[in-house]
Amino acid sequence: MAQMVTGQVGAEGPYWDALAQGRLRLQRCTGCGVWHWPAVWRCGQCGSWDHEWVEQEFVGTVFTWNRTHHRFAGTEGLPLPYTTVLVELDGSGVRLQGLLEGPEDGLRIGARVTGRADRTPFGETSIPSIRWSLA
Ligand SMILES: [Zn+2]
Repeated sequence: MAQMVTGQVGAEGPYWDALAQGRLRLQRCTGCGVWHWPAVWRCGQCGSWDHEWVEQEFVGTVFTWNRTHHRFAGTEGLPLPYTTVLVELDGSGVRLQGLLEGPEDGLRIGARVTGRADRTPFGETSIPSIRWSLA
């Protein structure tokens, strides 16, 4: 049974709410401009409590990747093997992980990717997630 992950859960609530709606929003400190991921309540750089949530594009560069051949608890809904990429976003430099979809020709560190919001099955539920594709 699918279950939505929404609502202001911890400092990262706005990220998950946006992703569930198909958008990517990341936290930036309004005091010093540093990007935070994972999200924080208070900036560790300047001490500010004030942050803004900035719309980002699903565009970046592969920082690293991994192909999984063995089942982990909760991933029964994913066909094996599956490929996970850690993408460094353009602009913010924040790194976000997601499954790679589509052709894998050209997959390497530094490859350009674009992404989209989706949901990934996890156990009895599904969670908002990012699907990346080689550009
Ligand atoms: Zn700051």
